[in-house]
Amino acid sequence: MEPSHIDLDPVSLITVGTEGPPGQRTFFLQAAQGTQVVTMIIEKAQAVVLAESIDRLLTSAGQDDSAAVDEAEATAPGLALLQPLAPAFRVVEMGLGVDEEREMIVLVALEAPSDEPGQRVRCAASYDQVRLLARRCRFLADQGRPICPLCGRPIDPGGHFCPRSNGHARPAD
Ligand SMILES: [Zn+2]
Repeated sequence: MEPSHIDLDPVSLITVGTEGPPGQRTFFLQAAQGTQVVTMIIEKAQAVVLAESIDRLLTSAGQDDSAAVDEAEATAPGLALLQPLAPAFRVVEMGLGVDEEREMIVLVALEAPSDEPGQRVRCAASYDQVRLLARRCRFLADQGRPICPLCGRPIDPGGHFCPRSNGHARPAD
């Protein structure tokens, strides 16, 4: 079967979101054009890299890339994941490019390395859309596990062996 290539140009929505408890969250990248919605699974690290790459591209395109995250903006209801979540695939590779003429950023998400067959989703989004996407990626990535007040390290849901309390386990809140 021919792997599917989906082209959302332009997207009506492009966002990231998470599901699951702190420390075990799954990150989703979701793009839509009208009623066609594509949801993909990404790693938290990919969300962080995506945000950095978007900022770099916006800067190179002469756009304001203010990385400051406004919580109200990053959590705007319009950026919530559309339910139900039915992930098409886990993203192995992402590529970004600028279309300066149309003032858009093109994001391509791949199910397999680019030299192998696999699904491919191409999203064309405005500078404003990707700026919000980058801020939301950063906001969600920062919202991870609770931080131990003693040692400053993240606390896993099952507890935490804190070097600052002589190795005693400290339960997660
Ligand atoms: Zn600790």
